[in-house]
Amino acid sequence: MTHAFRPGLDRVAAYKPGKPAPVDGAGRSFKLSSNENPFDPLPAVLRSITGALPGVVNRYPNLAAPELTQALADRFDVAPENIALGAGSVEVAGQLIHALTAPGDEVMFAWRSFEAYPILTRVAGAVPVEVPLDADARHDLAAMAGAVTERTRLIFICNPNNPTGTVVGAAQLAAFMQLVPEQVLVVIDEAYVHFDRDPGSPDGLEYFRRYPNVAVLHTFSKAYGLAGLRIGYAIARPEVTAHLRKVALPFAVSQLAQVAALASLDVEAELTERIDLIVRERERVYAALAELGLPAVRSEANFVWIATGARSEAIAAGFDLHGISVRCFPGEGVRVTIGAPEENDAVIAAAHSLLVGAA
Ligand SMILES: *Cc1c(COP(=O)(O)O)cnc(C)c1O
Repeated sequence: MTHAFRPGLDRVAAYKPGKPAPVDGAGRSFKLSSNENPFDPLPAVLRSITGALPGVVNRYPNLAAPELTQALADRFDVAPENIALGAGSVEVAGQLIHALTAPGDEVMFAWRSFEAYPILTRVAGAVPVEVPLDADARHDLAAMAGAVTERTRLIFICNPNNPTGTVVGAAQLAAFMQLVPEQVLVVIDEAYVHFDRDPGSPDGLEYFRRYPNVAVLHTFSKAYGLAGLRIGYAIARPEVTAHLRKVALPFAVSQLAQVAALASLDVEAELTERIDLIVRERERVYAALAELGLPAVRSEANFVWIATGARSEAIAAGFDLHGISVRCFPGEGVRVTIGAPEENDAVIAAAHSLLVGAA
């Protein structure tokens, strides 16, 4: 050993990206392991990116991103000071942890939830506190409230939850907020909020307005299809966003990402049509999997969780043979991203033949 690395890093697992798509016997391949949007950017968004291309690659981006920040502030009826950008909302989640925790402080989240939370927490030198989901794969808010200690600085509520697709109810979240001390920041991660059709779900923005210790995370990666450009943001109190800017990596948000995000806000109606299609497809896939007798969980996101437990690796391997990569959590379940209709047809057909084959 030549170097003395920071203690604790040995406990940091590298982030595992979604498996690339395998190829089936017929040469088909479907990557449904990363919750990506199956569609290319809308023509207007693509034009804005290509139009911006000459002249931005050799220059540093505008660090303040004034147009996009103002557009987001207008869109959500908040002040520009309430917006903090990052290279994906993963980066913003990391900023929040770095800004609010000292070594040994605690960051709480449900488990299983977004895999980046424990990694970002440990990298910051903080301590992850993972509170098991309940029997219905939902956040156990009572247990989470009970797990708050003097060292708790941040609580992530992933809503809808990745990878289970479940949501917390508005009333439950309000009750939870009564139990959380005001110095603890509750971060509602709404990466999948656009796909949520449950009328009982909370609107994170409303909670941000109502409680001084709530922040909301949004991303352009999922519903808006810009995962490859890396842009997301927090909506938070100015005191919080000022600290996020201090710990942010300078120039992490490219000019192309800013331009594409801005153009996306102009075509939200068209984007919504695509989101509605994915939601209809989600319902179709869920119903088909449930009808086959698979333990699919009702989802409000762009993926479906199948709680296959000990069978998960076998099921994932079975999808693999059909050219479909899913996200496998050994011993727990598999998460299947909703793709374009023909990809979802392939998922349903593969599930059918897997189960018929197993019978
Ligand atoms: C995908 C995802 C994000 C955001 O990803 P970025 O591409 O970094 O914006 C954030 N939270 C959850 C729960 C996600 O699944």
